[in-house]
Amino acid sequence: MNNEAITNIPFELDMEGLLKEAHIEPGTNDAREFEDILNKAQKVARPKALYKECFIQSKGEETITIDDIIFTSRALCMNLNQVERVFAHVTTCGKEIDEIDISDNDFLKRFWLDSIKATLLGISCHHLSNLLNRRYKLGKTSTMSPGSGDVNVWPIEQQRELFALFGDVETLIGVTLTDSFLMIPNKSLSGISFSNEIDFQSCQLCHRENCLERRAPFDKGLWNSVQHD
Ligand code: SF4
Repeated sequence: MNNEAITNIPFELDMEGLLKEAHIEPGTNDAREFEDILNKAQKVARPKALYKECFIQSKGEETITIDDIIFTSRALCMNLNQVERVFAHVTTCGKEIDEIDISDNDFLKRFWLDSIKATLLGISCHHLSNLLNRRYKLGKTSTMSPGSGDVNVWPIEQQRELFALFGDVETLIGVTLTDSFLMIPNKSLSGISFSNEIDFQSCQLCHRENCLERRAPFDKGLWNSVQHD
């Protein structure tokens, strides 16, 4: 199947909720400045999502071929062992919001802008997840992303292969990769989702301590099972 780029995701930024999240007292000068940025974001931002339904062509212990692209990751191979179809995706807050003019030295306003971008990314992810569930009746799914978990779980360099599944991601939704395979805009996510009865989370294969985003405890047995001999 071809890519589908969704470039018209509807959204309504919730002023009250976002002020609260940013710990800003309504009616203060900070609140007025935050609201000004939020109003501009509501006008210019264009959160976007890109996905592709892909089929697995061959599977090994360390490599797996999806739509003619070879991926190398034991954890990915293990997770896709019983799977024939996956959904590759990139979601983003959209590059348009970076048109809002804020000085690099204004750290507070840049922080506020970043939190609004994170909200827009969340809206994009939610939109795509609903669309996929509606269209493909996926049921329970798991997602893996290059670079999440320990470094060797699915190396971030494989962003190159993931992006290659789509072709020109920049033209489609405005997301590019840096030399170190980070995405621009910074509030973008990429990955592969698949139906999975087991509740897999990359955090199970991540040693990082004190991570505020952790969604599942480290699983030593699982981690050992994807290590090289
Ligand atoms: S524990 Fe934190 S750093 Fe590690 S995969 Fe989970 S969210 Fe990412």
